[in-house]
Parts: sequence; C-alpha cells; structure tokens
Amino acid sequence: MNPSVLTENQKLSAQTIVISRLRRPQDYQQISLYKDVNPLDWEDWHWQLRHRITSKEELAQVVKLTPDEEEGIKKANGRLSMAITPYWLTLIDPEDANCPLRRQAIPVAQESIVSAHEMIDPLAEDRDTPAAYLVHRYPDRVLLLATEACAMYCRHCTRRRLVGDRKESNSPSRFDAAIEYIKQNRKIRDVLISGGDPFILEDEEIENLLQKIRAISHVEFLRIGTRVPVTLPQRITQKLVTMLKKYSPLWVSIHFNHPKEITKRCKIACDMLADSGIPLGSQTVLLRGINDRPYIMKKLMHELLKIRVRPYYIYQCDPVRGTQHFRTPVAVGINIMEKLRGHTSGYAVPVYVIDAPGGGGKIPVGPNYVLSQAKGKYVLRNYRGKIYTYLE
Ligand SMILES: *Cc1c(COP(=O)(O)O)cnc(C)c1O
Ligand code: SF4
Repeated sequence: MNPSVLTENQKLSAQTIVISRLRRPQDYQQISLYKDVNPLDWEDWHWQLRHRITSKEELAQVVKLTPDEEEGIKKANGRLSMAITPYWLTLIDPEDANCPLRRQAIPVAQESIVSAHEMIDPLAEDRDTPAAYLVHRYPDRVLLLATEACAMYCRHCTRRRLVGDRKESNSPSRFDAAIEYIKQNRKIRDVLISGGDPFILEDEEIENLLQKIRAISHVEFLRIGTRVPVTLPQRITQKLVTMLKKYSPLWVSIHFNHPKEITKRCKIACDMLADSGIPLGSQTVLLRGINDRPYIMKKLMHELLKIRVRPYYIYQCDPVRGTQHFRTPVAVGINIMEKLRGHTSGYAVPVYVIDAPGGGGKIPVGPNYVLSQAKGKYVLRNYRGKIYTYLE
C-alpha cells in the first residue's frame, strides 16, 4: 500500500491505532489548557507545532514560573526563543523549577551571562563550511544542516547561533552547492543530516534531499540527527518511516538527556523507526542538575536499550555562550563512565567525548585502564580496580 494515497479515513484509523496503543491516551486532557483537545488533533504533529507555547502568558497558565524563568523568557526573545510543544509540556513538573525536563525547555536569567571562555561558535563550524549548509571537518564525512528549526528549543543548544524559528528559504535548490560539493569530493562516504531538526521538514522535502544524496554513488552511509522522537513523537508517522525505509542504509541518532523523556509515546515513535529496520543511536549532553548523577545516566542508558536505541555519545557540554549554568566539570563525566563500564551491559556504555573547541572534532575521554606499558608488558586495571598484566 502506498501511504501517500491513504484516504482520510485510513489516516484516521492509523492514528487511532497509535492512540489505542497508549494505555492512558487522555492524560494530556488533565491539563486545563488542553482539556477539550480531540485525540486526533493531539496526535497531529502539525497541530502540535501550531500550538507550541512561546509566551510567558501561555506558559504561566500551566507552570508556576519562578522570577528567574520570567526574566529568562523575556531575554530569550529573538535569540534561541522559547518554543515548547504541548506534548513536552505534559512532561514538565509545574511545581518544581528543578524538573529536568522543565530546565531543558524554559529559559532562565543565567542564559544571558557572558562568561569569558564561552564562545558563539566554539566548534568553529562556520570556518569549516565549504558550501552553504555544509560542515566538513573529518575527511570521510560531512554534516549537512538541513534546517534551522526544531520542534522545541533546548536551552543548552550548541548551535544556538543558528537555531530558531526564522523565515528560512525552503527552495529545494538551497542545497545545490552542498550536494555538488559532496558529488565532487569522492572521499565523502558518510553524510550526517542534522540542523536544527531535519524531521521538522515536510516528508517531501526530506525525501527530496535523501534522493539527491543517495544518487551520489560514493555516499555509503546516511544518518539523520533528530530530537523529535523525544520532543514531538507524533512526527514519526507511518508515512515518514515508509519513506525513510527506501533510503536504507539510513541510521537515526536521537538526542536524549533524561530517563523521563522515554515515555510510552516516545517508545511508539522509536518502535516505528526500529520496526522499519532503521538502526537507532542516542546522543546525550551532560547537563548539570539534569543527568550528572551516575544512577540517572545509567537508568537512561538502560531505558534506551529497552526501546532499541544504542547509546552512542555523551557530550561534554560545549562552551557556548549562555550555557555556563549547564556545564559540569569533566571529572563528572569521567566518573559516570567509570560507573558504567563493566558495571552494566557493554551496549549500555556510550563514548564520552569533548568536542574540541576550535574545531578539532570529538575527542574521547574516560577513565584510564592502562596503568603502565613497557617492553611488551601492559599493566591494566579492571572496572573493580584489580590489577592485571598482559604480556605481548
Ligand atoms: C559529530 C560530527 C560528525 C560525525 O562524527 P561521528 O563521530 O562520525 O559521529 C561529522 N561532522 C561534524 C562536523 C560533526 O560535528
Ligand atoms: S533539538 Fe538539537 S538543534 Fe534543536 S534546539 Fe535542541 S539541541 Fe539544538
């Protein structure tokens, strides 16, 4: 069946299947703002986008805002402005300003602090841009910034210099120079489509881009970086996954930061992707007061495996201007890795990286297991601190 010719009735029944897989689909109706919303509207990603919370007044109807947040919302206007999907709003604790999901979505006054070592573009992506929308850092792979928009704007966003709701060109020819560059550069075997969030584009726009990249014979591997399974799971529709499947091998990396993000609804979205044969990986940003405790990070990794997402990276929070309040010491990340490796399934252990300021790429950091090395002899320690010798 070609999903593009689904009748309106079939579309409704596909949505109804999704809704019926939720045990308590009416949860959102407990929020007074949404009490009259039809489940079919709630499940419509365009409806979710149209109804994003972007003002202090709307938000205050649901969340008891702190003075810090009120100031943050005021100051974030025009920069990485606030936008929260109704779905995400249902996950926020309206009473607790330390709620990890709330802190990722609602700006606070500290965002406007200008600290000396923070930068606008710490990874020097703008310097490594050989064609519009393209970042070429590693010899064999490129990053294509397909859009500046996202479903929700994360307060810790590294690309906050670019990302936000702006009028952007949506002419399909805007990627011509990028596509031509990839075509001319035969070393490029891997194209990572990110942004912003590529899944915020319409299916046809995504397909148009995938088609053009797939037509380049030396591109072996395609991946899409997204956060919509977490911030707008309704976006993962049967029509989208059926389209994506045609461009296999296509991998999807999903930005997850906290175990509470893995809801039943999120699981349905990830299941739809995984059931279509799309391998899923995760990317997590280490954030102070959000996921900087080993037991929270371990729980997140376990929950990811349960929804068939393989933990891929934990990032040290980049020194981007306005994110000081989110950053932890590097030792916090190393300690988390120490508490994962050996203590749980190897599949639950991502790689902790620092994306080198100045554009050096991702550098792995972690506990040191090699104690000494000399003349064909390695002295190692295991996860419990016991010492072993390996002779070459
Ligand atoms: C992260 C990144 C990639 C992909 O790196 P992998 O380690 O292969 O996931 C490619 N290009 C840029 C500019 C990146 O920041
Ligand atoms: S989804 Fe990614 S690109 Fe978009 S605001 Fe969040 S961190 Fe930034």
